Amino acid sequence: MNSVTVSTPSKKYYVHTGADLLSAAGEIAAPLRGAGQALIVSDANVAPLYARRVVDSLEHAGFRPTLHVVPAGEQNKNMRSLFDLLNRMAALRMIRSDTLFALGGGVVGDLGGLAASLYMRGIGLVQLPTSLLAAVDSSVGGKTAIDLETGKNLVGTFYQPDLVLYDTETLATLPKEQLANGFGEIIKTGMIRDAKLFDAARKPNLGAAEIAGIVHRCVEIKRDVVRRDEKETGLRQILNFGHTFGHAVEKCSGFSIPHGFCVAIGMMIVTAACAKRGICAPETLIQLSGALRLRGLPQTTRFEADELFAGMLADKKRASDTVTLVLPRSIGSVERRKVMLEEARAFLAD
Ligand code: NAD
Ligand code: ZN
Repeated sequence: MNSVTVSTPSKKYYVHTGADLLSAAGEIAAPLRGAGQALIVSDANVAPLYARRVVDSLEHAGFRPTLHVVPAGEQNKNMRSLFDLLNRMAALRMIRSDTLFALGGGVVGDLGGLAASLYMRGIGLVQLPTSLLAAVDSSVGGKTAIDLETGKNLVGTFYQPDLVLYDTETLATLPKEQLANGFGEIIKTGMIRDAKLFDAARKPNLGAAEIAGIVHRCVEIKRDVVRRDEKETGLRQILNFGHTFGHAVEKCSGFSIPHGFCVAIGMMIVTAACAKRGICAPETLIQLSGALRLRGLPQTTRFEADELFAGMLADKKRASDTVTLVLPRSIGSVERRKVMLEEARAFLAD
């Protein structure tokens, strides 16, 4: 088992990665907050596969678990699911010392995390990510959210979990597309901070143990960045490498293209523009392209520059005529640069 300690100004917690951790969830979680009521939130794909292990483990450790299953898919990360969840917690008469266990991908993690942060102004939260993307990204860092009809992740909180357990055995049932989806964020993490991680991510035929090592390194990197900037006022923006244009692709596709795929396309757009401007070497673009190809990730989009630019503007969180782009210098190194919107538009047109 690999462990990372995450210390933020609001909380300190462990992220453990290893085999069969779901069966140890109760034993590991009980000493943290005491074994009270436990609400396991999961989705309709993941619950039949893994909820039993978690329920058994929690019961064994003295928790009183209840399973709450939401339909799978981003379209269910909404107000309705949030209200249902909060009402379920109230009906169970959960109290502040109780704990919500989010068992699933990023959808369940974001939704469960938000509910845990709101109910009684905050109860215990344990993240049990089962998708690779959730393991390397969404389960760590404390961002929670649901979507509104007008846009993704518009309602949310910063709320750190008390514990994160990634059981690498869940990789066995993860659909191939979801594996690639996670590698979009892994390659991104290598690009921003760690050339060795980048190399590890582009090895063919990775086994579960190697993927566990990769996840561990991604969590360490996210931890280091988030520790220095929990609320994304500066450094944390580097985690958005490939995301400014990636979100534009996501928006144009009506969110039908998985997030990690859009990040892959976004990284290619920004890296191609940087290679052209001499910000990075042409070799950087070739290496990125090779890694994405190997992991079955897309590199181009059918959307036109104008459409993407409109999508990018729709995603902007602040009204201003500038945008902060994260630009690659070489594999493992990026810089943040505030540019005029017109310049960002030129990147898209390259
Ligand atoms: P997801 O939760 O929809 O999971 C993808 C699919 O895989 C789902 O159908 C799910 O049921 C299935 N699945 C998950 N684990 C499985 C397993 N082990 N075996 C079989 N099937 C499994 O999506 P995701 O890609 O995990 O996460 C995307 C979400 O995460 C988005 O809503 C995004 O906004 C959010 N996100 C949040 C953060 C953050 O910092 N909070 C960061 C990145 C992404
Ligand atoms: Zn992302």
